[in-house]
Amino acid sequence: MNHLTNEQTLKSLGWNEYFADHFAPYAEQGYSVGRISLEHKRIYRLMSEHGELLGEVTGKLRYEATGREDYPAVGDWVVINPRVEEKKASIHALLPRKSKFSRKAAGDTVEEQIVAANVDIVFLVNALNNDFNIRRMERYLILAWESGASPVIVLSKADLCDDLDARLAEVESVAIGVPVHVVSAEHGEGLEQLAPYLGEGKTIALMGSSGVGKSTLINKLSGSEMQRVSEVREGDDRGRHTTTHRELIRLPEGGLMIDTPGMRELQLWEADEGFRGAFDDIESIAEACRFNDCQHEREPGCAVREAIEDGTLEKARFDSYLKLQRELAHLARKEDARLKAAEKDKWKKINVEMRQRKPKR
Ligand code: GDP
Ligand code: ZN
Repeated sequence: MNHLTNEQTLKSLGWNEYFADHFAPYAEQGYSVGRISLEHKRIYRLMSEHGELLGEVTGKLRYEATGREDYPAVGDWVVINPRVEEKKASIHALLPRKSKFSRKAAGDTVEEQIVAANVDIVFLVNALNNDFNIRRMERYLILAWESGASPVIVLSKADLCDDLDARLAEVESVAIGVPVHVVSAEHGEGLEQLAPYLGEGKTIALMGSSGVGKSTLINKLSGSEMQRVSEVREGDDRGRHTTTHRELIRLPEGGLMIDTPGMRELQLWEADEGFRGAFDDIESIAEACRFNDCQHEREPGCAVREAIEDGTLEKARFDSYLKLQRELAHLARKEDARLKAAEKDKWKKINVEMRQRKPKR
């Protein structure tokens, strides 16, 4: 990598003005940057202008962290102090995330766990065979809008579909303004449509249920067999996956792909902007309801119920909207309790620190 200037190296890793701006104060103090390519029990593998390094967070970062989301995740840009000879680095801080995918951390607590950061484009993969599920697509769209990454719908296994037009019409009814591409990864068909998303410095990720063909697609796009394709048994959508050693992978086209196991198990987490983006059609119908806070139940002058009756709005889509709204409300209540506890904890720490700092007289 020596023939490249530092700037070029960073650009090829996804560096841009946004990160450069936030890094400026650290640069003045002589720090370097790196991008996390793997997390392993709080040891991080990162790519940098000094090559690949193993990083550990400093005590200060640990001390100031109020939750898991304050620790580095795959795709994060981090402020480092490299020890090039040892191929190690200490991680001082995270640069703000341009986008993030998160889920509930395992266990009873409602803690946010970042599964991928700084994704520019997310391919929402749905198979065109019997697994095809438009309601699931809706959920993925919410997650995508919420993340800050731009969604692109990839309909896979085109070779197993004989009513493509009907499927496309269905997809277009929920994915307003989102690009849709039809591919058959197994046969390498339609993949050239995805090339424009994979250029230099672009970070992409794939989302979709197990068995829809994500690994096959990743293999084709990355031009290698680093992702072993799992065998999926008939009627069983739980494929097995072999883990790769790097979860941030460079693509031959110059882009980068984030492929973390967490991306595969994403469930709905806090979503507000995302929810509104995904249900734009319903939200805009609801603007015509007589009451601002219309619940679309029995209120007079409800435009949503009218739309269902006259067939403009599909009942199933409205039901899905209500169901997701309830799930989100439930999560929001739990998250609120956690945030309050974290805030209390933070102030406790600050108080202790202040008391220790008090000058002795
Ligand atoms: P993942 O779980 O989403 O990573 O899915 P995989 O890539 O492991 O694929 C699941 C199964 O679908 C494998 O048996 C693949 O060979 C098969 N598959 C993937 N892409 C296609 C395709 O375009 N057409 C057909 N017919 N099968 C495919
Ligand atoms: Zn209404």
